[in-house]
Amino acid sequence: PQLRPVGLELLVRQLMEMLQVDPLSRGVELDLDLQPVAAAVDPDQVRQVLLNLLRNAFEAVDSKGKVRLSLSAEGNMARLSVWDSAGSIPESNLGRIFEPFFTTRSGGTGLGLATAYSIVRAHEGRMQVTSSPEAGTEFVVELPLAVASE
Ligand code: ADP
Ligand code: MG
Repeated sequence: PQLRPVGLELLVRQLMEMLQVDPLSRGVELDLDLQPVAAAVDPDQVRQVLLNLLRNAFEAVDSKGKVRLSLSAEGNMARLSVWDSAGSIPESNLGRIFEPFFTTRSGGTGLGLATAYSIVRAHEGRMQVTSSPEAGTEFVVELPLAVASE
């Protein structure tokens, strides 16, 4: 990836403006909680990661739930969280959803999460998921912060 310091708050806001015209997001209650954070990333690739996670979240809630995106800094990492209220990943699938071609959706490719995962790894970041019917589903992506001298 072509790393450079990128203000993620602006990147997320622009992405959200784009998504508002996406029929998939219609009827979904969308929450943003963004802190000003700069990470050392390839902005096109980070957009791809967030799009893949957000599309999955919108598909999961199916226009009758909530989706929340939050951005903060934790230690030397930027922390992006995409949460949806559906919480619909069974425990038996949690270990497999990052595998290429794993899908439970008719017409799904199973490539969204595998692509996101490999992008995050190429940035020396981390990605984790938790899901339960009570707490919802949360994908957390961590990416290295930009340092002032970059
Ligand atoms: P696709 O969307 O084409 O199925 P993905 O790689 O994006 O492929 O996702 C793989 C699988 O992970 C999905 O088929 C679904 O079973 C599960 N999944 C991913 N995100 C969510 C989510 N937010 N809620 C419920 N299930 C999800
Ligand atoms: Mg997908």
